[in-house]
Amino acid sequence: MNQQNANNNWNIHVKYWGTSGSISSPLKPSSVTKKVIDSICTLIKGGHLNNIDHANLESSVADLVHNHLPFSSKSTFGGNTSCVEINTQDCMIIIDCGTGVINFGINLESKWTQATSEKRKGVILFSHMHYDHLFGLPMCQSFYDTNNSFDLYGNEKVAGNLLDFFGQNSDMVNSLYPPILSKVKAIKNITPLEEKSPLVIGSTKISHYALNHPGSSNAYKIECNGKIYVYASDHEQLTETDSGLADFSKNADAIYMDGQFLLSEYLGHSGVGSGIPTKRTGWGHTPMEWCLLTAFTANAKSLHLGHRDPRRSDIETENILAYLTGHAAELSKKNHQNPPEILFPHEEMDCFI
Ligand SMILES: [Zn+2]
Ligand SMILES: [Zn+2]
Repeated sequence: MNQQNANNNWNIHVKYWGTSGSISSPLKPSSVTKKVIDSICTLIKGGHLNNIDHANLESSVADLVHNHLPFSSKSTFGGNTSCVEINTQDCMIIIDCGTGVINFGINLESKWTQATSEKRKGVILFSHMHYDHLFGLPMCQSFYDTNNSFDLYGNEKVAGNLLDFFGQNSDMVNSLYPPILSKVKAIKNITPLEEKSPLVIGSTKISHYALNHPGSSNAYKIECNGKIYVYASDHEQLTETDSGLADFSKNADAIYMDGQFLLSEYLGHSGVGSGIPTKRTGWGHTPMEWCLLTAFTANAKSLHLGHRDPRRSDIETENILAYLTGHAAELSKKNHQNPPEILFPHEEMDCFI
């Protein structure tokens, strides 16, 4: 899998637009300032500022930033909530409409400027209707553009929940949010998924699997030409390894799972960031160490941990990635099995499968 560069060999292109959990969490101004200070200190300590090419200042500095700064200093994992865009040769799929869908829509409108209506089609899949997966929908321009056409799917509650949130006769209309369901004319159909019945679009197959989450949630498996991507966010495993989900995700090239809590935070032995320790069992999220065990059992090539806790800083996320990578290497030795590559997807990250 290539995270950086498109090539002609991919079958599934995954692009992340929102990977923050629970609530959008933009960087604080003080955090931006700290990143600038940390970056300058790192470059000075490394002696890199002595080698700047003043004749080509911008490209010279860009090279230093690219080559000598950690991701947490020079960038951010982002603060928008769940939204993933997936393209195959047959279709474009959006999973979840958290606040990340706003940037998805801005990008889509420029991508589709020249496209005919025939090409301006997409499938929207909802994992579930918690507001962090839903509240970008009214802000996404693409859903109002009558040149576009989207079919929306989710579990059996999807149509009713959308009417409750955004319908003309909803109690919430004109109090929590204006009624927009009749205005998002690009969303042509809202269809509950039938149990165990996959959607097939050309050579792309979309299957779903029920997860354990308050109010229920769906995992989705996208298969195309033998390649597999699984999105299984907002799920609390009842055992350390979830054999049902591992079966559903067997031999996945990438599986996206909950990256909200470490095991010690889940059990209430430590707090998230500087927060007080709180037991988080029953909250609907699996600790990352257990996600890793399921990814091992599924024989997944890559584990993407998203739905990050909104209190987590970029540097903490980077430290957790180092810890989990070490943990995976230990398990790999013990199990005599190659570990999945672990990553925390950031907004705008491309993965080509
Ligand atoms: Zn969520
Ligand atoms: Zn949820």
